[in-house]
Amino acid sequence: MGSLHVSAQRETCVTSSLCVYRLPQVFDQDEEGRVVVLDDSPPDSLRDELRRAWRGCPTRSIQVEGLTSEGSDTTP
Ligand code: SF4
Repeated sequence: MGSLHVSAQRETCVTSSLCVYRLPQVFDQDEEGRVVVLDDSPPDSLRDELRRAWRGCPTRSIQVEGLTSEGSDTTP
């Protein structure tokens, strides 16, 4: 298992808050409601929740390096 690295594209974020709801320790929103990454190297224990947040973002504005390399990209 590799380490995780989280980034997000504020330009395409539509302020749905889904990622913040799922992982408030990793994601937050600025005064405009756009995503802010609080922890860009979260612990491996958050891997499953990160996957759900990543898949749940309606605009694919979240990127998580180290998440899909294990081939478990087939279940929610
Ligand atoms: S889930 Fe996606 S669109 Fe919604 S706040 Fe997070 S980054 Fe923005």
